[in-house]
Amino acid sequence: MRRFREGREGRWEEVEVRGYKDEPESFRGVTRQRLFGPESGIAAELRYFEIEPGGWSSLERHEHAHAVMVLRGRGAALVDPEVRHVAPFDLIRVPPRTWHQLRAAEDAPLGFLCLVDPERDAPERPSAEELEEIRRRPGVAEFLRGRAGFVEEGR
Ligand code: MN
Repeated sequence: MRRFREGREGRWEEVEVRGYKDEPESFRGVTRQRLFGPESGIAAELRYFEIEPGGWSSLERHEHAHAVMVLRGRGAALVDPEVRHVAPFDLIRVPPRTWHQLRAAEDAPLGFLCLVDPERDAPERPSAEELEEIRRRPGVAEFLRGRAGFVEEGR
């Protein structure tokens, strides 16, 4: 058993805090911890990511899907074509081949669990043309500028 140690950042005992990924220009302030890997005996990997206030994960897509549960803080999620505010216990499904990005609020981190297939393809980043297309969805330009004031029902 490994206990959770909630401090300024969410941490588990004996779990290494890793860099998020290569391509440092594609994200800001993201750490990764692998909570369950192949040793679990389950054909899945459970990771915990934490994005610092004002940070973001890379905008990407891939063949594999993500099942995400928000655990800490606040922020917003783009799952093309939708942008939503997210808070603890919200569930986010990222289907295959779908552009996605998570952003922490300016004044709060965003910590979330992400369940994936251990055998998965590498993420693809949008071309300039694809980025322009994504940016035209309602609320996405504001989301990409890091503003929380995008149009949304509820919350
Ligand atoms: Mn992804």
